[in-house]
Amino acid sequence: MIQAPKGTFDVLPDDAARRELIEAQIRRTLGAAGYRRIETPTFESTELFARGVGEATDIVQKEMYTFDDGGGRSLTLRPEGTAPVCRAYIEHGMHKLPQPVKLWYLSSFFRAEAPQRGRYRQFWQVGAEAIGSETPETDAELIVLLADLLDALGVRGLTLKLSSLGTPETRAEYREELKAYLRAHESGLSPEVVGRIDLNPMRAFDATERRTRETMTGAPKLLDCLMPEDAEHFAQVRSLLDAAGIRYELDSTLVRGLDYYTRTVFEFMSDALGGAQSTVGGGGRYDRLIEQLEGPPTPASGWAAGIERIMLASEQRNPAPELVDLFVALSVRDGVQGAFELTYQARRAGLQAQLELAGRSLKGQLKHADRLGARYVAIVGENGQASLRNMQSGEQLETELQNVIPTILRSSRL
Ligand code: AMP
Repeated sequence: MIQAPKGTFDVLPDDAARRELIEAQIRRTLGAAGYRRIETPTFESTELFARGVGEATDIVQKEMYTFDDGGGRSLTLRPEGTAPVCRAYIEHGMHKLPQPVKLWYLSSFFRAEAPQRGRYRQFWQVGAEAIGSETPETDAELIVLLADLLDALGVRGLTLKLSSLGTPETRAEYREELKAYLRAHESGLSPEVVGRIDLNPMRAFDATERRTRETMTGAPKLLDCLMPEDAEHFAQVRSLLDAAGIRYELDSTLVRGLDYYTRTVFEFMSDALGGAQSTVGGGGRYDRLIEQLEGPPTPASGWAAGIERIMLASEQRNPAPELVDLFVALSVRDGVQGAFELTYQARRAGLQAQLELAGRSLKGQLKHADRLGARYVAIVGENGQASLRNMQSGEQLETELQNVIPTILRSSRL
């Protein structure tokens, strides 16, 4: 049996119906704030991600599905949405539009990660980007929008973690300071952490070993090293969130897995997810990315949230079943042409109509119509005759085929 590739999944009809509700909510929440939808191609030049996401990141080093297009060009299935949206912003000259340009997307992404619950190789993300503004209110608005969206979707047990990364220069200086601290306190650190001092000193904050954790309480924090303008920007983001009643935890060790962030960064975690994959969504400011992609210097901010994780962390709400106004049944095979025509005419008149397609007995057809919750069943006989049964009242009307649709429409208007 041929199966779907490891780490991928089928979206079956019940699941698709739930996703449609999520999409409708996304449209309402983001549309109301003036964000408009954008969709970029499923694959892009590999160079876009190498430059945009950062050569040294896990995504670019290990997780991209990269292939040759047969003409010597290297293409990659998109692992994330921000770099493609920025590419589109530059390519379509969107800097000439009133700024910021506010965009959202709902698309599938691809990462060659080890699959587990909440982590797949093809997954869906909703993302929002506000490109062309450096104000703290842009960051705060984006955070409030994601908080409202997750709330409207019923995501449980949320915590918001917030920090500021300052500029890449501040980060480079801070890294040296942290390395110096770790070197000076090697005796209080686990050998594993010591081994990673040069490669990834920030990981020392994630250590679980007691002695290492104690040592790390005295380590310098990035938030204390910000330049005055960056610290002021962050203070304003915080005060706007405070005023909006959004609760957050400051987390000076928050480092996102992508290189392009500057200043504000945040993550929404849900304890309903449990374990390692507890991040529902996150984002931040990326003031240098557009320039890095050869666009005009343009500040920007945005976020992305995983649809499958939203679904895992929210209460299962079963979408209302689809309505069936009319089920068209056949009492004799000769009636098929009239039944076929009645069905499509009913649809053109705006009714939800289904035709018997499986050759069931009349009894079987009525049972099926009942299971579908059909309001009416038309049993089509010979010579343009039909019995129209009201499934709620049980009343049955013997009539001509051409009267079926007007009768149902009249009853719907009552
Ligand atoms: P990132 O672009 O890594 O910040 O991811 C944003 C969000 O997308 C995460 O918080 C997750 O909800 C979701 N996500 C990222 N990677 C995966 C994956 N491999 N499978 C499912 N969801 C993912």
